[in-house]
Amino acid sequence: MKPFSYVAPKSLQEAFQVLAKASGAGQVRALVGGTDLIDQVRQNRRTPSVVMDVKRIPEMMRLDWIPGEGLHIGAAVPCTDTAAFPTVTELYPSIQESCGLVGSTQIQNRASIGGNVCNSAPSADTVPPLISYSARAVIIGPRGRREVPLETFFTGPGQNVLAPDEILLETIVPPPPPNSSGHYLRFIPRNEMDIAVVGIASMIVLAPRSSQCTQARIVLASVAPTPVRARAAEAVLEGKTITAALIQQAGEAAVEAAKPITDVRGTIEYRKELVKVLTRRTLGLCMDSLGRKV
Ligand SMILES: Cc1cc2nc3c(=O)[nH]c(=O)nc-3n(C[C@H](O)[C@H](O)[C@H](O)COP(=O)(O)OP(=O)(O)OC[C@H]3O[C@@H](n4cnc5c(N)ncnc54)[C@H](O)[C@@H]3O)c2cc1C
Repeated sequence: MKPFSYVAPKSLQEAFQVLAKASGAGQVRALVGGTDLIDQVRQNRRTPSVVMDVKRIPEMMRLDWIPGEGLHIGAAVPCTDTAAFPTVTELYPSIQESCGLVGSTQIQNRASIGGNVCNSAPSADTVPPLISYSARAVIIGPRGRREVPLETFFTGPGQNVLAPDEILLETIVPPPPPNSSGHYLRFIPRNEMDIAVVGIASMIVLAPRSSQCTQARIVLASVAPTPVRARAAEAVLEGKTITAALIQQAGEAAVEAAKPITDVRGTIEYRKELVKVLTRRTLGLCMDSLGRKV
């Protein structure tokens, strides 16, 4: 393991000073729960010269709901706190579900959505639900603040749009539309403490008092270098009355967005089959939550 300095700024200004001194890619790594970073540093997969613990910065620990604006999830808020936040349990079930799947209770007490996002693994469980709700990543650094749709944040396995002197401040999740529901399911070979073979978040919006779909978002994890939207499947659903046959069709169409690899967790064919199954199941859960029979 390469030696590094540890700093724990108490304000964004202090953090910017640390970042401004970053001389090259990967010199400063933010630390939240450390559930990814500590292992990566120990194995020399990341070799920062400075590890910057951001948990003492108040803005990083923000977790609040602003009506009309949405849910602010500070980058350092533990998954446990996010999953237990009343607005999350009430309005964003798939975010709650995904936070409750990350590792174990002990891991969820340390791990953050911010770390899950910035680690940028294709299998990251909290990411598909966030994308399904059109979340935005708020990025800050000595050069200012910018927002990007989370959907465009990821550029490859372990890679994202953050510059070396930038960090994630928070994700903002817009209010879910009326008559909407979202759910997340993943498949792992055992009950917990494993990485998703496939993960699917579905979010649908229905017209009032009907089963007509006005908007659909289906986001796939672990089947491409980055999380991906299954746009063909969304198109199958939008504008139509949702029936069992349509859900079946959407599951078939979702596979178009999947470009999986064969690895120790599953083959290409197996993953494609899982995409169909989990798409159907998440859509079924959404319809159940909305009180609609299919
Ligand atoms: C036993 C175990 C089980 C796990 N199970 C799962 C699972 O089921 N599903 C899953 O998705 N993941 C799982 N993980 C991976 C990990 O727990 C998650 O990715 C977690 O959300 C990471 O959050 P963290 O706060 O610990 O991040 P950290 O380890 O602190 O950081 C992760 C990476 O993001 C960077 N980073 C963190 N915050 C910021 C920021 N604000 N700005 C810029 N960069 C930042 C860090 O520099 C680092 O590169 C597991 C890990 C372990 C050890």
